[in-house]
Amino acid sequence: MELTRRDFLKLSGSGLGAAALVNLGFRVPALAKTEPLRITKAKEFTTICPYCAVGCGILVMSENNKVVNTEGNPDHPINQGTLCSKGTALIQISFVDGKVNPDRITEPMYRAKGASKWETLSWDDAISKIAQKIKDTRDANWIEQDDIDGKKVTCNRTEAIASFGGASLDNEECYLLVKMLRTLGLVYVEHQARI
Ligand code: SF4
Repeated sequence: MELTRRDFLKLSGSGLGAAALVNLGFRVPALAKTEPLRITKAKEFTTICPYCAVGCGILVMSENNKVVNTEGNPDHPINQGTLCSKGTALIQISFVDGKVNPDRITEPMYRAKGASKWETLSWDDAISKIAQKIKDTRDANWIEQDDIDGKKVTCNRTEAIASFGGASLDNEECYLLVKMLRTLGLVYVEHQARI
């Protein structure tokens, strides 16, 4: 059929699109192509975005211990399903283009004093090493009393260790972490959100 300039402008300007072209007798290729959903057999978990202190809710779909999709959680009160560009690319922590991210670190890494190379450690060795360092530092820097106007006041603290929280810690984890840190006598307890 013949298409006048007015018809053409009406079609492109009004956004009638393919349906209108078909109605006018044109044959148009199918514009939408369906593909099998990659989350059909996946299990869904909720989590919090680890990148910043906004704490957006994320849905993680996993299949055979492999993350197959991440997206904003529409039921989460903070982001209501929306995500910034960092949160949208969250799956790349695990996978890039369907392959395990080669830059992902999956084991504890340790660089000895003076060494130029990092080596891997088992989780047990890493936790023991951290615990020993905390104990040694705390023991060597323990302050039992303060002198206030000539009067000795019990304080029981160490100023040689600091804790720096990350955005992926949720309220309950922060509560437990601060309890542990205060029990150890730390006074320098800070969070990423404040800097
Ligand atoms: S999605 Fe963006 S705004 Fe939300 S927590 Fe992650 S980094 Fe922050």
